[in-house]
Parts: sequence; C-alpha cells; structure tokens
Amino acid sequence: MHKIDDQLVKVTARIHQAATAAGRNPQTVQLIAVSKTQPAQALRDAYTWGQRAFGENYLQEALEKQAQLADLADVSWHFIGPIQSNKTRPIAEHFDWVHSVDRLKIAQRLHEQRPAGQPPLNICVQVNIDDETTKSGISLAELPALVAAIAHLTGLRLRGLMAIPAATNDAAQQRAAFAKLRFALEQLNQQGYALDCLSMGMSGDLEAAIAEGATHVRVGTDIFGARTKPASN
Ligand SMILES: *Cc1c(COP(=O)(O)O)cnc(C)c1O
Repeated sequence: MHKIDDQLVKVTARIHQAATAAGRNPQTVQLIAVSKTQPAQALRDAYTWGQRAFGENYLQEALEKQAQLADLADVSWHFIGPIQSNKTRPIAEHFDWVHSVDRLKIAQRLHEQRPAGQPPLNICVQVNIDDETTKSGISLAELPALVAAIAHLTGLRLRGLMAIPAATNDAAQQRAAFAKLRFALEQLNQQGYALDCLSMGMSGDLEAAIAEGATHVRVGTDIFGARTKPASN
C-alpha cells in the first residue's frame, strides 16, 4: 500500500513551514493532489486522510476515476493538462477548475459549453514563464490581451495565472521564475482585475513557489510516489 497518509502529512508540513517562513498564513495555500496515472483507490485513500482537491492531466483517465469516486461528494476537480479543442465539452462539464487555459479558442469553448446550472468554471491562464518553445502556455507579452478577452466570458471565472517553470534544483532560479508570475499577476491587478490565484509549485519546488506567493501548489510525486505508468491519452 501507498503510505499516502504519511506523505500527505509531510507535504502539508512543508507547506506550513514555507508559508510561515514567508510570513504567510498557511491556510492561504491550497494543496492540489496531482493524481494522474494513479488508480482511483489512491485518491480514495487521500480523501480518507482529508484531501479534497485533485489535479488530473488526461481527460479520459480523469472521467473514469470521477465515475468511480462519484460517492465522494465534496471533491474539487482541477484539470491541469494540455487541452485539445475537441475535448473541451467534458472538461467544461466535469471539472471545477481548469489551470491550463492558454488560448482564446479554448476559453471560448469552455465558456459556451459550461452547463447553465453550474457555477462559472474557475480558470487560470497558463503562462510560459521561461519562453520555452516546446512548452504550453502563453507568453508574458501576449498575456494582457488574452486576459482582457477572457474576462468577458460569463461561463468562466478568471482566477489567476499558472506556470510550470523549467525544472531546476537551484532555489534562487526557482524563485526568480515564480517571481515573474507573481509580478505578472500584480501588474494585471493594477490594471483593475481582481485575480486571486497563483497556481505554481510542484513536488520539487513548492517552497520557492510559496515564498513567491503561490495560492495553489500542485503536488503529485511527493504524495502518491513516483509515477510508473507512462503518460497516455
Ligand atoms: C504532473 C504535474 C504536477 C505534479 O508534479 P510532481 O513533480 O509529481 O509533483 C504538477 N503540475 C502539472 C501541470 C503536472 O502535469
């Protein structure tokens, strides 16, 4: 069995310590358990230990697990993977948050396809903070125009920004990348938006992210262990 309870306690303690060191209330940092490639039972175990927010990258896999876990009523589901435009409808219908919106076409489709009876879909715009050509995310230069266009879409509630910086073990470099995202959010808010979310920080860099203001950290490996199954669908 996974030692999910121990792992959750450790990650929660890291969050607490990082927030306290930064002079922040630890309750302002939400832990999203990234459960891609993990079986439904692993999420159920985490739920038993109090975890309520889960992040998934692959739509088909996520929908299967949601069906298996339908009895867990108060879970929030976060879509954090790349989005193909022909897959937006089930995302709009079955998730509470989408962290990986990086173009207007996707935002428009999610807005149109969000069922009327549900609250607006919480979204973050994914920013390619290092301008890596291979990665998803909009550039900082194009961010203000995209945010302005998305802000009109009533099916969505624009909450903030998300980034996955280039992996590095250097704490100063980690912080520099996260600071760029924080600064981008501050600039948008100075222009009149009221964005309250910075989705940044994973197993290897959550301390640096919290030091720079992360409100949502997305942690997989350090909760569920190494992912054995290769990414698919
Ligand atoms: C897989 C993934 C994570 C979690 O990464 P870990 O290093 O396993 O904690 C976080 N965010 C996104 C977008 C991911 O795809």
